[in-house]
Amino acid sequence: MKIGFVGAGVGTLHAALLLTKRYPEIDITIYEKEGRVGGRLASVDFKSGGRIDQGPTIVLMPGKLQEQLAEAGLDGVELLRIDPLYDLHFDDGTVVTKLGDVVDQAVAIERQFGEGRGFSEFMHQKSKDYDISVSKFLERSYFRKSELLQPGMLKPLVKMHALETAHDHLKRYFKNKYLRMAYSFPTFYIGGNPYTTPSIYGLIPYREQAEGVWYVKGGYFSLAERMYEVLVERGVRFEFNQSVERVTIQDGQATGIVVGDAEYHYDNVVLNGEFPLMEYLVEGKKPKAYTPSGGTLLLYFKMRGKVNLPVHRFLMPNDLEPLMNSIFHQDELPEHPAVYLFNPSKVDDSLTDCEDSVVYALVPSPRNFNREKFEQHGFIETILTKIESHHPGFRDQIEEMQIRTPQDAKEFGLYEGGSFGIAPTIRQSAALKTQARPYPDIERLYAVGASVHPCGGVPIVMMGATLLVNRMEQEMRWKNEYSDAGIRNV
Ligand SMILES: Cc1cc2nc3c(=O)[nH]c(=O)nc-3n(C[C@H](O)[C@H](O)[C@H](O)COP(=O)(O)OP(=O)(O)OC[C@H]3O[C@@H](n4cnc5c(N)ncnc54)[C@H](O)[C@@H]3O)c2cc1C
Repeated sequence: MKIGFVGAGVGTLHAALLLTKRYPEIDITIYEKEGRVGGRLASVDFKSGGRIDQGPTIVLMPGKLQEQLAEAGLDGVELLRIDPLYDLHFDDGTVVTKLGDVVDQAVAIERQFGEGRGFSEFMHQKSKDYDISVSKFLERSYFRKSELLQPGMLKPLVKMHALETAHDHLKRYFKNKYLRMAYSFPTFYIGGNPYTTPSIYGLIPYREQAEGVWYVKGGYFSLAERMYEVLVERGVRFEFNQSVERVTIQDGQATGIVVGDAEYHYDNVVLNGEFPLMEYLVEGKKPKAYTPSGGTLLLYFKMRGKVNLPVHRFLMPNDLEPLMNSIFHQDELPEHPAVYLFNPSKVDDSLTDCEDSVVYALVPSPRNFNREKFEQHGFIETILTKIESHHPGFRDQIEEMQIRTPQDAKEFGLYEGGSFGIAPTIRQSAALKTQARPYPDIERLYAVGASVHPCGGVPIVMMGATLLVNRMEQEMRWKNEYSDAGIRNV
């Protein structure tokens, strides 16, 4: 059995790990247009030495991540707990700090805002909603869109008020505007606008508070590097700098892929790039229109010496809604931007030599902006000034700065320059989203990644990889064809 993967993002890497763990003799080739694995799990390498994550930084659902790594037989990945999780500094001086202990958090919210009870109710209710969501919506595949209309699916959605927006839903628990913002903005972790994203995605801030925020020692990019090492040991072939141009289809079945002048035969093909961009590759299919996720401007800093910042800090405007409107609806730069600061050197000395440190700033931004346009509006300068006003002396410590814009993301292959795949909207969720088998009329063609069900975010894309492998097993009836030791009669 030969499987060809298009793209070496974390979705592919985890699926290949699961497949090789379950069926050691399976024959896998992974085609990647870049010269490295990981996709968005990449590092920025400074000329002056030192590395920092280019993309993901926050480990959400650490329990799920560890469980999935164990299932794939991957060891050697160390997770560090970050406590306090992070703090939010609003422009008017209000500070909201999220603590690792939920009881301490309730006490702190009671002291600061008199809303400890609302917080406890939020945690209690969301813990129930989370368990239902994982079993009913996340850890299952869909075969038909109509499955969503079954009473067993609709009832919990109604009960959870899942169609209220993430921000408005919090009015049920919090009166204070800062708390509403603090517990709804994490929908942006998957590129969603908290003022339009359904509240089912608002479970992210609940889970973050319940399990804490964790960090991958060595950087998130080192997870991809470790996955690659193990896959090579297991005999998986990687073809780097090979951009797949076409997936061949014959008699309703995927039969192989085309790279340049060469055509390669595979029994199964798996697509890992962004939808709808992958749809251009499939013979006979027309790309559909999707709503892209939010864009980000990223500034990466190599700093002289240590920086007095926690691992995660958010600099927030007093009102997040105008910012979200400008980047999602008006395609304009926000008047009052938000900045997420990531300072991994606080807990990880392996990223730089000596006493220097690395920091990254992520700024939610309109998607159609390139570097020139940001500079024309003096926006990068605005961000540096904002950081400096929170952290006097920051500029003087900068040794090197690198910039990544939504336009760079688009050129890399992220749909419309959105950082997080397609946006988490109702029409792009659950049964309405592209599934592990994207086309009911094409057999042996599969998909995995941030724009495929269940969603973006590293542990969730890995859950999608598990759904993919389970579905392949089910459709191929591999369980009968393979023994534990590998291929029996294919
Ligand atoms: C700035 C940023 C911050 C983020 N922060 C977090 C965070 O804190 N926590 C979190 O959990 N998640 C975060 N994410 C999201 C997370 O990185 C993604 O959800 C996840 O990495 C997506 O994995 P994927 O499997 O979809 O693959 P991708 O990363 O999309 O990789 C796909 C691969 O396919 C390759 N490819 C595409 N087309 C072709 C072709 N035709 N031929 C060959 N190869 C091709 C690409 O080169 C790429 O390597 C962040 C993302 C970004 C950009």
